Amino acid sequence: MKQKNGLLIVVSGPAGSGKGTVLADLIQDENYKYSISATTRAPRPGEVDGVNYHFLTREAFEARIAHGEMLEWTEYCGNYYGTPKREAEEVLASGCNLLLEIEVEGACNVKREYPQAVTIMLLPPSFAVQEARLRGRGTESEEKILARLSQTRNELARIGAYDYVVYNYDGMAAETAADIRAIVRAEGRAMKRQGDVSRLYFDGE
Ligand code: 5GP
Repeated sequence: MKQKNGLLIVVSGPAGSGKGTVLADLIQDENYKYSISATTRAPRPGEVDGVNYHFLTREAFEARIAHGEMLEWTEYCGNYYGTPKREAEEVLASGCNLLLEIEVEGACNVKREYPQAVTIMLLPPSFAVQEARLRGRGTESEEKILARLSQTRNELARIGAYDYVVYNYDGMAAETAADIRAIVRAEGRAMKRQGDVSRLYFDGE
């Protein structure tokens, strides 16, 4: 049996959805790799270039767009964010699943260009829980919290474009990651992804 390409998996989620914890659980598995995005925003304390993001100047980012080196990109809150194409293609060709943690606009762009991608919206159990999580962190100003909550209303307006919705309940990140693994497992067996099954079966490739 020939090695198959991995799946392109897009995960979006509003602030407080717990994306970081869930994705960290998924990449414990060697079949899942995390795509390190490029961005023009400044690193936050503790963020490391080449680990959290590839931090680029606007000029460098625009040059990459011009050279077709971005699988997708968008401008979000005044900064560019994008997925480096070559790294993504290498991971998929190796047979590993690639996780893109990107916002809604980027997710819609990926789905348009790569209809075979699997798009997942990760949500807190409710808006009230999301608000409680953001306030509980105690790291952001009231103004920032309100901006993030209102951003969520915009993002949810486009939820119909996603293939799946997964809820991340308090203290259940491992179960949430298991839900995503189950989706990926089922998608890997979807008939539309199999090519010519009977030829492969009878020829025993
Ligand atoms: P932050 O600045 O908080 O790290 O990220 C802001 C938003 O940008 C988040 O919603 C995150 O998912 C999104 N984002 C991060 N990397 C990418 C990317 O490569 N492409 C797109 N379209 N969005 C991204």
